[in-house]
Amino acid sequence: MIIHLASGNAHKAQEMQRLADETPATAGLGLRIVPAEKMPPVEEDTGTFVGNARKKALALQAALPPGAWVLADDSGVCVDALGGAPGVESAYFAGPHGDAAANLRKLTEVMRGVPAGERAARFVCVLLLRGPEGVEQIFEGRCEGVLGLEPRGGKGFGYDPLFVPEGFACTYAELDESAKNAISHRGRAWAQLAAWLAEHRT
Ligand code: IMP
Repeated sequence: MIIHLASGNAHKAQEMQRLADETPATAGLGLRIVPAEKMPPVEEDTGTFVGNARKKALALQAALPPGAWVLADDSGVCVDALGGAPGVESAYFAGPHGDAAANLRKLTEVMRGVPAGERAARFVCVLLLRGPEGVEQIFEGRCEGVLGLEPRGGKGFGYDPLFVPEGFACTYAELDESAKNAISHRGRAWAQLAAWLAEHRT
């Protein structure tokens, strides 16, 4: 089964393929996660993860032959000390260019001086799957944690070097992909999607 990913983010596609291959419920389904060759431009302006994910999924579905399965991921980091920001705006925190390095620098800067006990944050991931005949399924995963003082680690992407998941001393960016997937917001959303697929697509 081919699932077209409504994203041009190669890191997301790579994480998702590994999740498909390593999650027991989907490991045997032979899923291929195909990143959008040409993702139609979508303004992520709905103010919600679900709304933005739906816009992305519908845009890609409209560009593909009828019957295609499309998956959209909308995700971000919500920081308590910033009233939940950057949240749905995570990709554009430092400006409309969507520069991941600039976003990470900005979050590091705005959190400077925020004491240890007030650095709680969570990653949120909404996976929205659309299929033939108007099928739509929504899965949400979260991972609680705190923001470190400085970026650490060279794996992963985006804000990974600043995020220390609950129960860990290292950041997302210091974990191997499989270890991150086992606890991450995306991994938790995928586990639900995997259960749904295993039930409905075998
Ligand atoms: P989206 O493509 O609009 O969903 O943007 C999500 C943004 O949130 C990305 O640009 C990253 O900055 C951030 N983000 C989402 N998931 C992760 C993750 O697993 N690690 C690090 N940053 C992430």
